[in-house]
Amino acid sequence: MNLYSITDITALLDSHGFSFAKKYGQNFLINEGVPKKIAESSCEGAVRPRACIEIGPGIGSLTLQLSRVYDKVVCFEIDTRLPPILSETLSDCQNVEIILEDILKADLNGVIREKFEGYSVSVCANLPYYITGDIIMRLLESNIQFESVTVMIQKEVAERLTSKPGDSCYGAITAAVNYYADVRRLFNVSPGNFIPRPKVDSTVIRLTPYKNKPVSPRSEALFMRVLHGAFAQRRKTLINSLYSVLGGDYTKDELTYALGIAGISPSCRGETLGISDFAKISDALE
Ligand code: SAM
Repeated sequence: MNLYSITDITALLDSHGFSFAKKYGQNFLINEGVPKKIAESSCEGAVRPRACIEIGPGIGSLTLQLSRVYDKVVCFEIDTRLPPILSETLSDCQNVEIILEDILKADLNGVIREKFEGYSVSVCANLPYYITGDIIMRLLESNIQFESVTVMIQKEVAERLTSKPGDSCYGAITAAVNYYADVRRLFNVSPGNFIPRPKVDSTVIRLTPYKNKPVSPRSEALFMRVLHGAFAQRRKTLINSLYSVLGGDYTKDELTYALGIAGISPSCRGETLGISDFAKISDALE
C-alpha cells in the first residue's frame, strides 16, 4: 500500500474501523514530500549512529521517512487503536519501535539510557496541537542534551516562539523556551497536506537545546516564577504583575527594591523584557 495515497489510507483506516480522534489532535500527513523534508531537516548535522524519538506516529507517515534517515527510531503513541495499523504500514521498518504511552508521562531519561546508548538523539514530530506547549516544555525541562527537536506546530505558535521582547505575541512561553534553546522557523505547511484538513496553517521549527544557557540565574525555580509573574497580568505594570504571583513571598517594597538593583523600571511592562532581565530580577530577589 502507498502510505501517501488518500485512497489507500482511507481503505486502510476503514479496514481497521478507525475514525480520527479530535481529542488526540489527529491530522495525518498525506503528501510524501512534507514528511520527507521534515525528516531530512531533523537529522541534519546529527552524527551517526543517530537515533530519533518521534511523538505521535499516527499511521506512520513521518515514521517511515525517519526510519530511512535515522539508525533507530522510538515512537510514543497514546492511541491504543494505532499499533495494529502501524505494524502493517511499517512492516518493512526493522529499526522502529512503538511505545504505547502518553509522552507527558514517559520516563525519557530511562528510555534514552535503555535504548540509545552510544547514539546521538534527536526528537522529531508532527505534534498534537492541543498540547504543543506542554510537550516542548517537558522536552526542554528534562535538560536532556538532544541534538535537536524538530517539530511541526501551529503557525501562530511558531511565530510566538520566535518573537522578540516588545512583539505583540511575545509571552512567557517565548521567554521560557528561549532560555533553554535556540529556536528557528524552517518552513510552512498548508492544511491541504493533512487528512483531515486542520483549520490552521502549520510551521516546522527546530529547537537546539543550549549546551551552555545564555543566562545562569542563581535559582532556576525563582527565575521561572519571575518570568511567569511578569506576564501574569499583561495590562498591568511589571511591579503589579509580579506582585500578583510573588506577593505571598515578597512585599511590594521588596519587589521594588529588587527591580532597582536589577536596573529595571517597576512601571514598565513584562513583555518588553528579555531573559537576561528576568535573571537579573530573580538574582536580586535571591
Ligand atoms: N505523525 C503522524 C503524521 O504526521 O501523520 C501523526 C501526527 S498527529 C498530528 C498527532 C499524533 O500524536 C496522533 O497520532 C495522536 O494520536 C498522537 N498523540 C496525541 N496525544 C499524545 C500524547 N499525549 N502522547 C503521545 N502521542 C500522542
